[in-house]
Amino acid sequence: MDLTGLTRREAEELMAELGQPGYRGRQLFQWVQARRVTTVEAMTSLARTLRAELAARATVSRPGLAKLQRANDGTRKFLLMLADDQEIESVLIPDDDRLTACISTQVGCPLACRFCLTGLMGARRNLTAAEIVGEVLLLQEALEPGERLSNLVLMGMGEPFLNFPEVERAIRILCDELGADIAPRRITLSTAGHVPGIRRLAASDLGVNLAVSLSATTDEVRDQLMPINRRWPLAVLLEACRAYPLPNRRRLTFEYVMLDGVNDSPDDAKRLVRLLHGIRCKTNLIPFNATPDLPDRPSPRERVEAFQRVLYEAGLIATIRESRGKDISAACGMLRVEEDRQR
Ligand code: SAH
Repeated sequence: MDLTGLTRREAEELMAELGQPGYRGRQLFQWVQARRVTTVEAMTSLARTLRAELAARATVSRPGLAKLQRANDGTRKFLLMLADDQEIESVLIPDDDRLTACISTQVGCPLACRFCLTGLMGARRNLTAAEIVGEVLLLQEALEPGERLSNLVLMGMGEPFLNFPEVERAIRILCDELGADIAPRRITLSTAGHVPGIRRLAASDLGVNLAVSLSATTDEVRDQLMPINRRWPLAVLLEACRAYPLPNRRRLTFEYVMLDGVNDSPDDAKRLVRLLHGIRCKTNLIPFNATPDLPDRPSPRERVEAFQRVLYEAGLIATIRESRGKDISAACGMLRVEEDRQR
């Protein structure tokens, strides 16, 4: 049994099985999630005999740190090694007043978006809740003095809704106030447009923010860029977004990767305004991070800004995402283990 993936309730149940009172379960949960110990032996508030019993049936897993790179802008990319030697990447992104952890939910990704390097890896496997939680705990261990994680985005490798049960469990563990205590409103889950997932999140009580990667304004173009659109085309996707119950003062985010001559025309901007009409949202224009492995080119800056102006003049909130960690291939869409590239 892996204690890293246990909810507080399950930790209590485990301790109950060992004949212990409920508060022992809470202590166990705190040792793993808040104090971040990696051995049962280190849980010194538990009696030695209890620790021995526990150690006989459970371990505390943590991904291994295979490589840590630091970009000129302070962004740090972590190459993590999982128990079966699969590798994933996680990123720490410092901003003026924020420190955002960008974490992966799958090894590789089956969705094969044309502009995304992780898509080139193909599908490998889902991460377990323990591995997703482990990413966050490992990043927290790596923080420098005075640093505190402020935000968590599920925007690394993978499509969170293709692994929703484990993602949901990980979020519940990370939000527990006895654990990492991350507020749900500081967590953003980003999807390529998996409609059943959006509906499931809408029906849940998780309380995290939802971002939808749109990146096209016609089915014709979106089919080309994001094959998932053939399954859930724009009308269906936007209907699910319209039906999404937003808490007060919260907005959906629509991400839009800007590709030269593909989806960045003034007509695209006008169509985007029409598509998003009536949805409480903000748009985030993402400069495309190009690499030789991908066919597209980034839109020129003037075109991104012209696009932004059209949205802005129509009353939409439109930001341009600043590309971070580019020099270490840690920017959006660039998470893909180098070892793989060499293979
Ligand atoms: N599967 C989820 C989360 C991972 S991708 C999703 O699609 O949203 C996170 C974000 O990075 C998405 O908005 C995606 O469109 C964007 N992205 C992917 N490749 C990119 C690239 N090469 N340049 C810029 N952004 C990219």
